[in-house]
Amino acid sequence: MINRKSKDEIKRMRHAGHIVALVHQEMKKAVVPGISTKELDDIAMRVIKENKAVPTFLGYNGFPASICTSINEKIVHGIPSKDEILKEGDIIAIDVGATYGGMVGDSAWSYAVGEISPEKQRLMRVTEEALYAGISKMRAGNVLDDISGAIEDVANREKLGIVRNYGGHGVGHQMHEDPFLFNYRVGNHTKIKTGYVIAIEPMLNLGGDDVVVLDDQWSVLTKDGQPSAHFEHTVLCTDDEPILMTTLMD
Ligand code: MG
Ligand code: MG
Repeated sequence: MINRKSKDEIKRMRHAGHIVALVHQEMKKAVVPGISTKELDDIAMRVIKENKAVPTFLGYNGFPASICTSINEKIVHGIPSKDEILKEGDIIAIDVGATYGGMVGDSAWSYAVGEISPEKQRLMRVTEEALYAGISKMRAGNVLDDISGAIEDVANREKLGIVRNYGGHGVGHQMHEDPFLFNYRVGNHTKIKTGYVIAIEPMLNLGGDDVVVLDDQWSVLTKDGQPSAHFEHTVLCTDDEPILMTTLMD
């Protein structure tokens, strides 16, 4: 069942999303060659706690950190480590969740570490474009496939791989609520209604679609070793324009 969020729930979620955006603001500054992903996790944890929120990911199905850090061919769910050091030319997807007043905000962003190759620049630019193409379809009366299809069309235009078995999701009291949202058309004609909040999150690859999961049971990688990018916002459907819940508030 898909829940429509009340005004009060939306207010708390917006605050949670603001805290997530504060973390990303710090990540953007901190992502430089030489920093470890554990140090990034420490910064995220500090920002979340300073703002009286709870790191949603920590302990989620046993996940051991406050953020997911996925470098280059890692797509999602990378575990921060003191031994994993960013280097010039990497791209890193950082996924952040914060719970405030019992409500969750969820947003991921890919960052360049120093100078990156033109192909990685294209991958990041197009994946971000696919995110906003999907967000533009988050309107009452549209169906879930409209969002999925908008993402798929951008990916296909640029001949990027589309991660098939991971995708967006409803979000609210829990990080993962109904519905699941594919990043390509699956014939889902469920109508989008005012008050729905969905995390829209394209994951696109420079190579093919296929993925493998590491022995740590978390890290998801591209099978062909090509880089992957990930951009995500938590988005509210209104009677009018969709509202981004995971941006900084004024
Ligand atoms: Mg996320
Ligand atoms: Mg998500």
